Formats: sequence, C-alpha cells, structure tokens
Amino acid sequence: AKAAGKNRFLRFHPDMMTALVQRTDMLTGLQLAVARREISVGFQPIVSPRMAQVVQFEALARWNRDGERVPPSVFIPMAERSGLIGEIGAEVMARGLVRLAPWLSQDLSRSLAVNVSGVQLQEPDFADGVISLAEASGVGLYQLVLEVTESVFFDADSSLIKQLASLREAGARVALDDFGTGYSSLGRLQDLPVDTVKIDKSFVSMVRTGRERLPILSSMINMAHSLGLTVTAEGVETAAQADYLMALECDSLQGYLFSLPVAGSRLELAVQQADEA
Ligand code: C2E
Ligand code: CA
Ligand code: CA
Ligand code: CA
Repeated sequence: AKAAGKNRFLRFHPDMMTALVQRTDMLTGLQLAVARREISVGFQPIVSPRMAQVVQFEALARWNRDGERVPPSVFIPMAERSGLIGEIGAEVMARGLVRLAPWLSQDLSRSLAVNVSGVQLQEPDFADGVISLAEASGVGLYQLVLEVTESVFFDADSSLIKQLASLREAGARVALDDFGTGYSSLGRLQDLPVDTVKIDKSFVSMVRTGRERLPILSSMINMAHSLGLTVTAEGVETAAQADYLMALECDSLQGYLFSLPVAGSRLELAVQQADEA
C-alpha cells in the first residue's frame, strides 16, 4: 500500500504543477480582463456573390493579454467552464451591435452574426438579454444571426428550445456553425430550428484546384437549399474555392480571401477590401 501511495505521488509530475499554475493564472487573467472590459471584438465580413457585396459581419471575441493575443480556441472553452462565457458573449454582442448599428441601418438586408455557446443558452434569461441588447442599440432582431453548433441540440431541454423559438419568432435567425463536423447525419438537418448552415472550413479546404469532384460539398449545399436554408461557406482562402462554391450556388462566402477579422475602427477598409476580392 505504501509503494502504491508513493507511486501515486510520483505520478504527479512537476510539469503538471506548472500546467496547473499556468491555467489558474490564465483564468485569473481572463476574469480580470472581463471585469476591466478588455475583451474586444474582431469583425469578419461575409460576402454575397450574387449581390457582389458584404452583407454580414461575424463578431469574434478578442483577448489581447499584455500585448499578446490569446486565441479564442484557448479562452472560450475556459470561459465556458468557469461561467464567464455569459458575460463575454453579452459584451461581444453589445459591442458588435453598437459598432455595426450605423452600417446595419443603411440597409436592412445586412446583418450581424454572433457566436452563442450552449452554456449561454442554458441561462433562462438568455433570450430576454438578447432582446434588450438589440433594443438598446436600436438594431432590429431580424438583423441578428445567432451562430450555434449542433452540439447545443444534443441534450437540449425545453427551455433552450423555447428560448431559441421565441428569438426566431421575434425575427432573429439561427445559423448552424461548423456544419459537417458534428455527429448527426445530413438527414437530421430538417429537425433543427435553424435558418442557415455554415459549412465548416475543413470541407472548403478540400477544394484545391477547383477541378475536382467533391460530392459531399454539393450534397450539403443542395440538401440545405432543398430545406429552404441559406448556406454560408467559411474559411474561403483562394479564388478557386470561391469559384467552386459559387458554381454550387452557395449563398455567402467568408474567409481570408476577402478579409481577416478586423477591429471595429477598420470596418470601412474591410468592406472595400472584400468588395475588391
Ligand atoms: P468559428 O465560429 O468557426 O469562427 C471562424 C474562425 O475561423 C475564426 O477564428 C476566424 O478568424 C477563422 N477564419 C476565418 N476565415 C478563415 C480562413 O479563411 N481560414 C482559416 N484558416 N480560418 C479562418 P477565431 O476568431 O480564432 O475563433 C475561433 C473560434 O472561437 C470560433 O470559431 C468560435 O467557435 C469561437 N469564438 C470566437 N468568438 C466567440 C464568441 O464571442 N463567443 C463564443 N461562444 N465563441 C467564440
Ligand atoms: Ca461562428
Ligand atoms: Ca464556424
Ligand atoms: Ca469553428
């Protein structure tokens, strides 16, 4: 028993201590950043090839920690585990709405997309919060798109479904993010309360020359269209990919080919750049 105890102790390697300390330190830093309202927003334009213009921006959370960018893939999961995601999500939405309000008011077919985590949807007052944020900014709910991944529907309780339904009734749209990467089949799509699918960049990156046959891409787009959904492709990096997706009648395109996510002060530039791509 003694040997086993010793073993157990030895298995706690100094590296684990370092990792633990770093994680705690990162969490403290994130708590501070949220309290000091240092979480900012990057805006990435989304282009409609049919209208040849930017029709939407996706708001993406940004954390600049003492001059160093911490990627969302690191701090968003941490925020989801620690309960900070509600505040971060509200901050991103509020800042996004305020910043884009003038651009949105110029054309009511324009919209703002924000990412919503499943943890936020578990909060019973999520829908009310969204509605008051939109009201405060003077932006109509019909100009707001909530991006969710299909995992939020896995163990969706009735409160979550009701909240999404009431937001959709009020005019907001729901987009299924990272489409194709989850576990459900294409067939399940018709049961989900969504208006748009966002094809994950892993599928878009399969287009290399533009001359290949990619039945999975066309199936996803055709299936979504036959269900009356619109389709956005993310991670479009090359002209060949854009051409391929346009030939498949993809409704909107997003990716570095058009623009990186930019700071709110550089929206005009991003629109100009995306228009020229
Ligand atoms: P996502 O929602 O799938 O967002 C798209 C990600 O792809 C963004 O990464 C964007 O910068 C990146 N991207 C855009 N175009 C291209 C491209 O052409 N090529 C490549 N390789 N990447 C491209 P980012 O900003 O690092 O965000 C990563 C993820 O973090 C997001 O993935 C989203 O899941 C999450 N996230 C970001 N902001 C928020 C937020 O405010 N709330 C929540 N809940 N999640 C967020
Ligand atoms: Ca997204
Ligand atoms: Ca995505
Ligand atoms: Ca993603």
